[in-house]
Amino acid sequence: MAPIDRITISHHRLLLTPPFRAAWDGQERNHFDATIVRVFDIDGRMGIGSGDLMLGFEGHEELFAGQDPLDLERHNKVLTNIDFHYGRCWPLDIALWDLAGQIKQEPVWRLLGGTSPHVPVYASSGALHPREELAELAVGFLELGFPAMKIRFRSRESGGWHEDVKGLEAVRARVGDRLKLMVDCNQGWQMPWDTDPPWTLDEALPVARELERLGVFWMEEPLHRADLEGHKRLRDMTSVKIVGGEMTRELSSLQTMVDGGAFDIVQPDVALVGGITGLAEFGRRLRDTNTVFTPHTWTNGLGMLANLHLMAGLGAASFVEFPYDPPSWGLDRRDYTLSHPVTQKDGVVTLSEKAGLAISLDEERLAATRLD
Ligand SMILES: [Mg+2]
Repeated sequence: MAPIDRITISHHRLLLTPPFRAAWDGQERNHFDATIVRVFDIDGRMGIGSGDLMLGFEGHEELFAGQDPLDLERHNKVLTNIDFHYGRCWPLDIALWDLAGQIKQEPVWRLLGGTSPHVPVYASSGALHPREELAELAVGFLELGFPAMKIRFRSRESGGWHEDVKGLEAVRARVGDRLKLMVDCNQGWQMPWDTDPPWTLDEALPVARELERLGVFWMEEPLHRADLEGHKRLRDMTSVKIVGGEMTRELSSLQTMVDGGAFDIVQPDVALVGGITGLAEFGRRLRDTNTVFTPHTWTNGLGMLANLHLMAGLGAASFVEFPYDPPSWGLDRRDYTLSHPVTQKDGVVTLSEKAGLAISLDEERLAATRLD
């Protein structure tokens, strides 16, 4: 066993010109930060992770140095404790899985028990678009072979969803049934500056009725993330699948929501909760239930890749989120830390047979965007 030698963390900032207007932000995004975690064993092997900022991790490196890198359960417990006190430091769990893959000379998806490297994906838009532009975007996704598209509704503008329904109608008119459509209402959590309350059940229900009318497959985050009773009642009242849980901090809270019947589909992200270790266990438990697991992946390309490995490892049938809204959220921005963007063909990402997560960093770009 070659123990863990050291962990290094670097922070990077890509300036966004023109800015990106994420539907859930409420203000323009002028830069896109990424944190890269590297964990080395004493033989010089390196694992890489990313997806959150590792806030509060500094000073805890000695809890990992000298340990067996393959003791992933133990490391995950320490990261769970750090998460309780500080930020979401799950990118280290991702890096440890990448390192485990280097040591065992297997891709992570196979280490997790997967038998196929092919993962179906859906196109996840991020901005609010005028009606015709949204319809054009949908046609573009159809031409690229995506089976499904996620559309954003405005989250905080009172009654603004009426306008969003018109956009949805324009998309349906253009693509018919050839594209499965999902809607993200972005009510589950708020940005730091956002003090308006999320929808109540009474406010979410008429939206659900419109989504039913337009044959929408799922309604994401219609209510506050912890409103178990509201989600349950909404599920009973509509045929649209109710989806959520992407930023719920603790897996135990998420499990309570799932056990209570809040969701048809649940979306924890390995970069934001539980890491690959925690969500592999969570996902295996869900395989025997009616709740489907398909993760949120809107961190960065590397975080998305880690989620794709997990889903290939679990052999789950559902499609995975592929953040893509060109030109304001193209692969050049989403995957700027990588030397080659993660691409899909006909709605499928095919993962590499190379060891680990098969990450190739764009070191030149990382040097040019480095903050510290
Ligand atoms: Mg979402």
